[in-house]
Amino acid sequence: MKKSFMTEAINLKNYPLNDNDSIVVMFSKTKGLMRAVAKGAKRPKSKLGARIQMFIANQLMLLEGKNLDTIAQAQSLNTFSKIRSDLDKISYSMYIAELVNTFCSNDYNKDENYSEIYELIFLAYEKIAQAKSKEEVILYTLKFQIKLMNLLGWGLDFEYCSKCQKNINEEQEGSCLYSYSLNAFLCPQCSLDNISGIKIHNKIRLFLNELSKTKYDEKTKYDDLANFAVLEKCFLFMKKYIDNLSNKKTKIFEVLEKTMLV
Ligand SMILES: [Zn+2]
Repeated sequence: MKKSFMTEAINLKNYPLNDNDSIVVMFSKTKGLMRAVAKGAKRPKSKLGARIQMFIANQLMLLEGKNLDTIAQAQSLNTFSKIRSDLDKISYSMYIAELVNTFCSNDYNKDENYSEIYELIFLAYEKIAQAKSKEEVILYTLKFQIKLMNLLGWGLDFEYCSKCQKNINEEQEGSCLYSYSLNAFLCPQCSLDNISGIKIHNKIRLFLNELSKTKYDEKTKYDDLANFAVLEKCFLFMKKYIDNLSNKKTKIFEVLEKTMLV
């Protein structure tokens, strides 16, 4: 008899396996990134079909298979239905799904801190679903970018110059340099002899630092000051940082181009 197991998982995407069945890519609380077969999910009126839609969190019972596990039962924990009624929410939630799909494979994530990552995705989708404005949607996506990278051990140090180790938190005006080759920040002095990088205003860097140090759902003193332009700038900076880290040449770019976020 096939062995069964239970887990909670959030759907990241699904694609057809054959005329009747689909494959779901999910992030599971106990197993991390995984794929499973959803039998009959493509048939009209399939209950399972409804539960394997993107962004839905389910309590699952799975049967272990040789290559792929099969979903035996699915009960939705949260459908995050408000994401689906708003194009911006859909686009940014897809970006999050793609980010998880790219970075949470074992190549990047050696810690197996699956439940923390699961809780972060769950919280992000909950916050994005409830968001009242595009600004809030971007803010919660930005926080997700920072927190996920921190959890995976790829977090960016916003406080110290990577060359001279000087604390750059005192720098309030002017800008520091994010160096592509070092994948880190440089203070104004050290950035003089560095060529490739992006200049980041210190106020932006301090905001990102604050987001990095506070809890995901905790408000920072900067949150209300951050307008659309600032948030977008921060989001795009983190996106460049993440793209630079990824040697897989992710689909993240494509997702964003298709949905015209950038
Ligand atoms: Zn320095």
